[in-house]
Amino acid sequence: MSQEIILEARGINKSFSGVQVLKDVHMDVKRGEVHALMGENGAGKSTLIKILTGAYTKDSGTILWKGKEVEIESRKDCQALGIACIYQELSVIPALTVAQNIYLGREPKLGKRGLINYKRMNQMAQDLIDSYEFPLKATDTVDSLGIGLRQLVEILKGLSCDSELLIMDEPTASLSGREASVLFTIIEALKKKGVSIIYISHRLEEVYRLSQRLTILRDGRNAAVLEKEEIVPREVIQTMIGKVVDESAAPPRYYPEIRRRWF
Ligand code: ADP
Ligand code: MG
Repeated sequence: MSQEIILEARGINKSFSGVQVLKDVHMDVKRGEVHALMGENGAGKSTLIKILTGAYTKDSGTILWKGKEVEIESRKDCQALGIACIYQELSVIPALTVAQNIYLGREPKLGKRGLINYKRMNQMAQDLIDSYEFPLKATDTVDSLGIGLRQLVEILKGLSCDSELLIMDEPTASLSGREASVLFTIIEALKKKGVSIIYISHRLEEVYRLSQRLTILRDGRNAAVLEKEEIVPREVIQTMIGKVVDESAAPPRYYPEIRRRWF
């Protein structure tokens, strides 16, 4: 069965102060797939997703959402389409509760005077939490949560807008092993519900475990798009860094865990 392409970025170019950091970049994402995005530091991964989410403006190129050309110029545009992003820098507010964070700016109101209906908001948040079996309470203050659970709040914020595409920029970078495995379970559950995910990671083992396809950027250009069966760790690393990996040499700086496991 062929899967619908939900998002397609075509010929994306972006420069900062005259330096071109994205050059004619292409990426497409199918419905319900986890599509990994890899590349060395500075390859342009975050810039690409910031363009897809309206945080940066592209210089040229086209973005298609469900086959139709769209302009994504703000976080609001992105939300309206059904795209949510969990950035490397989390945006949850520690002093507020889980429910307040999820519905910030979209709180259910009480009658005509527009007071926030806290009871209803907490219930909506708890129902959402329970539907994904997240280990959270709607009334917990985010302050009291570890980084892994804060990330879950960020994910819930995205899901509460009925997002069809969730973008995660290096989500496991600051998670413990246990927190990461909770996240992987959640990603599997989202995949089953038909949510698409762009998953940025340096960690090839995670990418291999989670994703259906892999796009590799190098120096702001497309270097490869691979199906899961085509993922050969050494070749992926070579494609990312643009040279042949000498197996007897010291491991590349970012991939010691891969070398240990695969070489
Ligand atoms: P990655 O996420 O793959 O590590 P980035 O997209 O963050 O790469 O960065 C790609 C290049 O663009 C880098 O050289 C980075 O310094 C540059 N860059 C990213 N954002 C900005 C910005 N706001 N201003 C100037 N240069 C930027
Ligand atoms: Mg980045």
